[in-house]
Amino acid sequence: MNRDWNSDYKLELNRVAEELGLGRSDNVEGMIIEHCLARLRAWVVAHGTPETLSELANGFAASLDLLITEVRTEAEIDAVLDKVAPVQKAAIGELKTEFGGDTDAIIMRRLDPKPWDRAYWAIINCQDWHAYRRYFTTWHEIVHLLLEGQQLAFAFRRTKENRPEPAEILVDRVAAVLAFYPDMFEPIVREEYTREGRLTFDVIDRVRERIAPDASREATTSACLRHIPFPAWFLQCGMGLNASEMRRLNNPQMSFFPEETPEAKLRVLQGSSSPLAKDLATRFHPNMRVPESSIVNLGFHDVRGEAKQGTEALDAWETSSGGPIGSGEIFVEARRRGDAEVWAIVSLNADG
Ligand SMILES: [Zn+2]
Repeated sequence: MNRDWNSDYKLELNRVAEELGLGRSDNVEGMIIEHCLARLRAWVVAHGTPETLSELANGFAASLDLLITEVRTEAEIDAVLDKVAPVQKAAIGELKTEFGGDTDAIIMRRLDPKPWDRAYWAIINCQDWHAYRRYFTTWHEIVHLLLEGQQLAFAFRRTKENRPEPAEILVDRVAAVLAFYPDMFEPIVREEYTREGRLTFDVIDRVRERIAPDASREATTSACLRHIPFPAWFLQCGMGLNASEMRRLNNPQMSFFPEETPEAKLRVLQGSSSPLAKDLATRFHPNMRVPESSIVNLGFHDVRGEAKQGTEALDAWETSSGGPIGSGEIFVEARRRGDAEVWAIVSLNADG
């Protein structure tokens, strides 16, 4: 995210805050999130706390006059288009092609609603790999409506899988909080990790089962991490090259002799951390190597996907320049995910 992007994002924050009639603040993003949370909280006060966050999404969407429709097949996309006004259908274009590509969802204001129709309609793409994102996508569309409200005068808005635009990033940041509505989510996380004594994949699975059955494992893990009152990290690792190897491989002028072709190694692809971990100097950098001695490496090679856990020395984890990222004992749980990844939860060992 460069300087231009940051100033564009700031402009977007101020534009949205003004639309919403919010005052001034040093933390405009936080103020917008609080405003949206307050609207959700008001719904819960009026309607009672639902059993799950999916029920919360549906009930809250209905109160915004928003219909959510999940489509899983091309026939279901046709059925949606049959109900859309012709002029709007023309604006939307080839929805089947879009949903066959990287579009996660569209949202529109109905142009000729029947008396029983809701004013807004979000179509959530649940085909193939889009399906696992459907819970978060639903919240993303709800937040579009919350932030734009009556300004949603466009024929429709599409949300792509990759969305670096400031407006889309803001919607995602708000949605990340609302989708795991803290008043309902945090007590369940606390109950489950207290029972286990630490954050584990079992804890996350139980939290998901109890309150967020439609959320992806990935989103639920990140959300749990945000509510853990001790330092912990969530690492998604897979095979990859380091930055200079990547540069050489992508540069046609630098050919490799066969014997020096770089070898992919197990690396951190993506990492996130709990709030307290952010205060520490220890950082698991993207692209850093997973030590061969690590439990993460063991988990990666267990193709049955059984969780491996235990303690290891943080000192073995080194930056590309060679120094350890910290010292002391860490507790690691690692579990292979799919064909190419291993996920790990790392916490500072409380006994150490
Ligand atoms: Zn969007």
